[in-house]
Amino acid sequence: MNYVLLGPPGSGKGTQAKKIVEKFDLVYLSTGDMLREAKKSNEYINKLVSTGQLIPDEAVVGLVKKHLKKNDIKKGFVFDGFPRTIWQAENLDLLLEFENIKIDSVFFIDLCFEKAVKRMIGRRICVMCGTNYHTVELPSKKSGKCDLCYNELIQRSDDKEDIARNRLVVYESQTKPLIEYYKKSNLLTYIDGSRSEEEVFELIDIWIKNKKS
Ligand code: AMP
Repeated sequence: MNYVLLGPPGSGKGTQAKKIVEKFDLVYLSTGDMLREAKKSNEYINKLVSTGQLIPDEAVVGLVKKHLKKNDIKKGFVFDGFPRTIWQAENLDLLLEFENIKIDSVFFIDLCFEKAVKRMIGRRICVMCGTNYHTVELPSKKSGKCDLCYNELIQRSDDKEDIARNRLVVYESQTKPLIEYYKKSNLLTYIDGSRSEEEVFELIDIWIKNKKS
């Protein structure tokens, strides 16, 4: 089972990817996480991530290759936030072809621009355990504190409104063309991202189970 999650920032790709990985015991591959780690020691990456711009294709594909080597992808994987450009998608195809691996579905979690902005600017993350909250949709019991480990909740710097809006503009111009790309290869599964987290996962879960049986 190999899946790609596509959709605007704020659509819930990360949350759903982690749920799929947990339920079906797959490898989680998030280029956002890889780059947040890389930016700690690389000022150029730091600047691009912090301002919501995409990292050059060659660098991202290089990073993905490194992680694919480290992980047992034959077990099955879920890509979150990759590919984000046609070039990345074509290179992923080549990479997988070489390994004789096929993508089963690209789940496109759709969400309109303004709802995506609201999702991003309200998002809060626990500094310690990484649990996600939302100031309106999913608030923690005690303001600013994690329900699970009581550590501080922070806002990702690229979730601030002006940067969040910029990330969506970048998505519209560079990533949206992937919808047509994966439609052509008959891999696209449309999911309404305005539904609740549980409902979205139920749709994905049903799709995966139907495919398996
Ligand atoms: P994410 O956590 O997926 O929203 O990614 C956070 C940031 O990391 C993005 O706004 C980009 O700056 C960078 N990034 C993540 N994935 C990619 C990618 N596939 N290609 C280029 N930049 C990426």
